[in-house]
Amino acid sequence: MELTNYCEIFNINNKKFLFNTNNGSLIVLDLESYKKIILFKKNKDIAIFSEDEIAVLIDQEFLVESNFDEEIKNRNKLTYNISKYSSEKESVKIDFAITNLCNFCCPYCFERENLNKKENCSSNLIKTSEYLYQYIDKVTLDYVKDLKIVYYGGEPTLEKNFIIKFNEKVKNLCVEKNIKFHFNIISNGYLIDGDFIKHLQFEDCDFIQITIDGEKEFHNSRRTNKCKINTFDKIIYNINKCAENKIKIVIRLNVDKQNYQSIKQFLEKITNLLEKKYFGQYIFVDIARVFGSINSFNLFEYEKYREELFDICYKQKLVNANLMVSNLNTFCIAESLTKDIVLDSNGNLYRCWNNVFDENFKIGTIQERLNNNCDPYDNSDITLDFVENMSLMNVNNSKCFSCKYIKYCQGLCPRIRKNIIENIDRNIYKNNECKKIIKKRIQQLISKLEV
Ligand code: SF4
Ligand code: SF4
Repeated sequence: MELTNYCEIFNINNKKFLFNTNNGSLIVLDLESYKKIILFKKNKDIAIFSEDEIAVLIDQEFLVESNFDEEIKNRNKLTYNISKYSSEKESVKIDFAITNLCNFCCPYCFERENLNKKENCSSNLIKTSEYLYQYIDKVTLDYVKDLKIVYYGGEPTLEKNFIIKFNEKVKNLCVEKNIKFHFNIISNGYLIDGDFIKHLQFEDCDFIQITIDGEKEFHNSRRTNKCKINTFDKIIYNINKCAENKIKIVIRLNVDKQNYQSIKQFLEKITNLLEKKYFGQYIFVDIARVFGSINSFNLFEYEKYREELFDICYKQKLVNANLMVSNLNTFCIAESLTKDIVLDSNGNLYRCWNNVFDENFKIGTIQERLNNNCDPYDNSDITLDFVENMSLMNVNNSKCFSCKYIKYCQGLCPRIRKNIIENIDRNIYKNNECKKIIKKRIQQLISKLEV
């Protein structure tokens, strides 16, 4: 037997940890066990371990047969390809950009050029939603157990009534078919008032994601409308109201070079603004990197700042330290050919959800997909790019499948893979920078566990 390649030893606060990156198992090593592991790595003599130690190491898949790692690699390829191409997945996800309008005019918005410029695409929303309803009805066959809709835009809460009514209609269909229905809303948080909250079924709502850009002054300088109103206070009020009404809020912090300090200050004072009793129950934080702007950190730079912010959030119970790993699936809809779709209120379909309302990136329409028996195949260059060229089978010379961190990384967002290949983002595959990032993240998670 041998030590799996998925084994990693971490030295944290003078304690040694043996960690399995394939299944998330963690063992705290005393000095003697640590020395045994190091020795076994060198001489492969299993007699160094006691029977009990061998039993634990085999059970937790640290000690494995010589072909084990190869089998894991093949299994990862298989589950990845199933999630990429399977027409019989148990879950269906719809990313639905229900309006191209927004009540804010944030200077860095990725959809800036598409929002508010053209005609109001919301006028097509009802027709599109009728097609979408037929699509949902057709694709939720016997093997489907779960349907999720993500509402975004523009600002989806400009269409609050639509969300309430469409949810009700789809929920009824799901109840009839014995399918779990749930939804998320990606919002700026300004219009989420008491009346809307009252009408949302909190048990179906996974969360509402609301972006805050930093402290009040900084946030208001960027996330506001043309009249430069104070949006911060109202958003904070709305977040507390949602939590009070059992609606989970994920506060999205998009970090760049300009707002890092302000986000840090916001987090340091967060208990003065939001109800602490809801932290970790109804209020959470998600930290992300802004990409594609001149103020963006590159992937490697960003890690230092993310780490500091994560620590502050962890102390407030706003993020979890979770070492669990699941099967390796596609990162998002962009790289799959399943029944999952990204569509906008015009009824156009896309690969990456950042491209909605930009017809240059459309891969067809919901109506065409319906006429085509809901078959996801199309021949566009965009499909080839995201599904095949950016596939983990092809990028980074398919080395991601041999990487011990793949389940914690999923090989990055396909758009980032594309940016790296096109030299828009720094190539973190080179010199294993990507591995250093993921290793550090796992180390940070372990350091938070009370062991
Ligand atoms: S490719 Fe990246 S940016 Fe595009 S939808 Fe997927 S995760 Fe989002
Ligand atoms: S850490 Fe790097 S090599 Fe490993 S899966 Fe992620 S991107 Fe691929």
